[in-house]
Amino acid sequence: MKHIYMDYAATTPMLPEVAEAMQPYFSRRFGNPSSIHSMGQEAGDAVDQARTKVAALIACRPEEVVFTGGGTEADNHAIKGVCLANREKGNHIITTAIEHHAVLNTCIYMKNLGFDVTVVPVDKQGMVDPDHIKKSITAKTLLVSVMHANNEVGVIQPIEEIARITRQAGVYFHVDAVQTTGHLPIDVDRLGIDLLSASAHKLYGPKGVGMLYVREGTSIAPLLHGGEQENERRAGTENVPGIAGFGKAAEIALADMGEEAGRLTKYSDRLIDSVMGKVADVYLNGHRTSRLPNNANFSFDFIEGESILMYLDAEGICASTGSACSSSNSEPSHVLTALGIPVERARGSVRFSLGKWTSAEDIDKVVEALPRIIEKLRAMSPLVKEKCGWINYL
Ligand SMILES: *Cc1c(COP(=O)(O)O)cnc(C)c1O
Repeated sequence: MKHIYMDYAATTPMLPEVAEAMQPYFSRRFGNPSSIHSMGQEAGDAVDQARTKVAALIACRPEEVVFTGGGTEADNHAIKGVCLANREKGNHIITTAIEHHAVLNTCIYMKNLGFDVTVVPVDKQGMVDPDHIKKSITAKTLLVSVMHANNEVGVIQPIEEIARITRQAGVYFHVDAVQTTGHLPIDVDRLGIDLLSASAHKLYGPKGVGMLYVREGTSIAPLLHGGEQENERRAGTENVPGIAGFGKAAEIALADMGEEAGRLTKYSDRLIDSVMGKVADVYLNGHRTSRLPNNANFSFDFIEGESILMYLDAEGICASTGSACSSSNSEPSHVLTALGIPVERARGSVRFSLGKWTSAEDIDKVVEALPRIIEKLRAMSPLVKEKCGWINYL
């Protein structure tokens, strides 16, 4: 059966060109970039070239890029690094209720270490109010961390407005841009970002490699201590093949970005309009316009998202109930809860995230299958009977 993969927000397939760019560094060009000899130089050159390509993707200088072991590490490094390097200046972090667990759980850890954490709420569409951030800043605030776009509901936050506030207050601004880097144009100077996290496997690169952008002059402690790699910011021998692959993926993403975003916006709009038109008691989660080009997240009343996923999977359609990281527990996601979606409705949520291999036919197939599956599940649902009063009749 041909699979229709609509879970690109969880991870993306690696491009063949990326695999090809990585290949030499597994074996033939195996040198350690720290070695003085020519084989070390060769590996070091590959890392430098990748650094230039990744920097171009967010319009920063190559020296401001720290390669990491993924998006999670970059988030950890930004938060722990700024807090620990600036303890004499303050003890307060501000973040939002819809951050990825890589940010939220790091903030909880810092709270356990004695830092104060303010978690600002979002509105029903998932938007952060910059004024809320402004009002939360105190003389003790070190860092504000707000994601660029949410991985579950796709909401894009007003980063530029928030940056104006952090700039004026003299606090560092970290942005988890894992869902947007390589998908939307990013210029860290224009947006006013001090620290930015990205991950290669969300932009058709390899898993286990990412980056933290650190604006020049930012006071930040290393996360890993040891050798002098990455400008003494990230000890440990570089993941040379992974970094080379990240560079290639960044180069391709930059070239394809505009066209791809336009194509995916058309597809996700069609998916959203069709599903909203064909199915009763359905809700679009997140913001209708300020959303990722590839995201469509719905809640269907009276049924479980997991049942929908199983029926979709039986027809070869791969979607998600939300964050891939929390799919093993059946608690509704913290993101949907933060949007004020009632628990019962949040349980009936499904996320479709589109990407490079999504075709018009794939959209047609989902638009045909989904209403049929919803109807079947609702016919079996005890919740529907309850709503209609059948439960009393029985
Ligand atoms: C995927 C993701 C991460 C984690 O990145 P990894 O490279 O998988 O560790 C962090 N934040 C967001 C918004 C993500 O979507």
